[in-house]
Amino acid sequence: MKENAENAGRGYWGKILHVNLTSGDISPEALGDPFYRKYLGGVGIGARVLWDRMKPGADPLGPDNILGFTTGLLTDTGSLFTGRFTVVAKSPASGGWGDANCGGYFSPALKRCGVDALFFHGKSPKPVYLYMDQDTVELKDGSDLWGFDTIETEDALREIHGKRAQVACIGPAGEKLSLMAGISNDSGRLAARSGLGAVMGSKNLKAVVAAGRKRIAVDDKATIKELSSGFRKRLDRGKFFERFLGDRIFGMTGRMMRPGLFYMRQPAFLWRKMLKKFGTPALTALSAEGGDSPIKNWGGSGLKNFPLKKSQKIGAETVVQFEEKKYGCYSCPLRCGGIVSVKQGPHAIEEMHKPEYETLCAFGSLLLNDDIFSIFRINDLVNRGGMDSISCGGVVAFAVESFEEGILTLEDTGGLELRWGNSGAITQLVGKIVRREGLGDLLADGVKRAAEKIGRGSEKFAVHCGGVEAPMHDPRFDPGFIISYFCEPTPGRHTIASYQYLDLQELHKKFSRAEKAPLLTTRKRRFAPRGKGEQLSIDSFYKMLVDCAGACFFGTQVGAELPLCEWMNAAAGWNLTNDEYLVIAERVHQLRHAFNVREGLNPIRDFRPHPRLYGDPPLKEGPARDVTVDIDTFGKSYYEAMHWDVTTGKADKAHLKELELEDVVQELYGGTEA
Ligand code: SF4
Repeated sequence: MKENAENAGRGYWGKILHVNLTSGDISPEALGDPFYRKYLGGVGIGARVLWDRMKPGADPLGPDNILGFTTGLLTDTGSLFTGRFTVVAKSPASGGWGDANCGGYFSPALKRCGVDALFFHGKSPKPVYLYMDQDTVELKDGSDLWGFDTIETEDALREIHGKRAQVACIGPAGEKLSLMAGISNDSGRLAARSGLGAVMGSKNLKAVVAAGRKRIAVDDKATIKELSSGFRKRLDRGKFFERFLGDRIFGMTGRMMRPGLFYMRQPAFLWRKMLKKFGTPALTALSAEGGDSPIKNWGGSGLKNFPLKKSQKIGAETVVQFEEKKYGCYSCPLRCGGIVSVKQGPHAIEEMHKPEYETLCAFGSLLLNDDIFSIFRINDLVNRGGMDSISCGGVVAFAVESFEEGILTLEDTGGLELRWGNSGAITQLVGKIVRREGLGDLLADGVKRAAEKIGRGSEKFAVHCGGVEAPMHDPRFDPGFIISYFCEPTPGRHTIASYQYLDLQELHKKFSRAEKAPLLTTRKRRFAPRGKGEQLSIDSFYKMLVDCAGACFFGTQVGAELPLCEWMNAAAGWNLTNDEYLVIAERVHQLRHAFNVREGLNPIRDFRPHPRLYGDPPLKEGPARDVTVDIDTFGKSYYEAMHWDVTTGKADKAHLKELELEDVVQELYGGTEA
């Protein structure tokens, strides 16, 4: 496969592939420098291609949906923290825009095949997988792989294509079209959200194997190297603090963070040290104590229902006792991951990725479960099944509360005593959900669909936003999250914008529109929504920049000033200012939103969160006591900053034109003056 000669040496190949699974045709599309200057890479390529090629109203699980795998503009360029790929498609969970991304080693292997992205159209008549390297691209029979879990699939494909082949695949959850299915790589890491594993399953596409070896050239290698070395030095600052970190100190810090009279800015150096030493499990005790973790299906408090002695049992120090070795994604200088092993007992597991905070919380405090061995087992079940652990934890919490309240009976559960903290029953239920057995079949499409089928008042316990289960960060602790949960094009997303991220990212150092977060603020000011939309919108755009570059979100939060824009300029030979990059990022964000509007969705209306998420009614005790977030005013403030009309969801015409999205204006407004 020959690269587009005009673009060789710019950090991108200038080429994407379209794979028609119905006919088996594979055709390249060349993209020029103007395209990359407008959309960069990663999610930017995905947003533009889906906007251009997807028929509005397409069935998300039908052949007209398009599933894209995109690599970042910075992936494999010598920059750091930039090994993530983004999957895009219409989401069967929300019915609108869907994306999910993942680290590991798949993205550089795909980029080394000489393409920036792959798009799958149609539906294969039988199970297939795509094999690709720098010379060949071929659809192959995947019938023998159908039914394998994600790790078995990877192992089988490496047997065939060699140890260096990188695999993105679905497990049983994707095959059985669970709306909580994700796409796995690196033996159980998941691009988990938006239900995109079900889209892959609906196309009979079991896996994508990337075994490329061709390195992308860049415009200015020396500058990239210099920027990377400076970043590494900044990242190594303050090693001294690491030795003191542990669950006890996290618990104490959590207590200090409880909403009192004041809030303090989050210290980035502390988060850097926590990630490096423990990974995201470092949040478990801190967040349960501080009020960031949801407790008892969002109806309880850490203080009363899941105190420190419980959260410590599933916290960082417990988890690392089982860590065999550290794990880091491609080009990561921090290495927050780990491989754990449970040597003996009924939950013995040879090796697996360490559970992330989201998993520990979703199957821990959300269910009042302090049995770490059950969480390890569940982590293995969902990783192998190819299922989103956040959504799966949410649906189990829904089932437990429905059982506790007498809506589900032992007959419904197949004899499982679904009580709070009953780790055995919870673990068995997860197995049933992954396999779609009995009650698990009903639950496998998430809480919204399950409540619609069960009825009998169960919707009271179905905590979701727009059909997607809420992640493990409580907007009653950080009201910035509520914007991401119901105004973001992918509802229920915790990795976009929040006050904590604004604290950690210090965007005022990068962008002229961004304001410095105050060191100390009062509770009253923190929860006052007016005027907050502008800063949260900048945070949303920044996340688009991160996803276009193929970068890890954590790299932006560790107090070391990730030089994303500088790296992109050096890679592509551009001379864009940071503010110009922010405009590009907004263009991508607006396209994702326009996709939803074209599908008839207006997030502020259609992704409205479950009342528990914003404190209606407020909790009576614990860190989030008495808090009700005024989501309508928050939402309107964000819509205003985005130039979106609250009633129709449409972006302002003039603003879209400023962003050079005239074709979007045409499609959303036609010839009318709406
Ligand atoms: S910080 Fe963690 S998730 Fe991010 S790139 Fe490094 S290992 Fe991967």
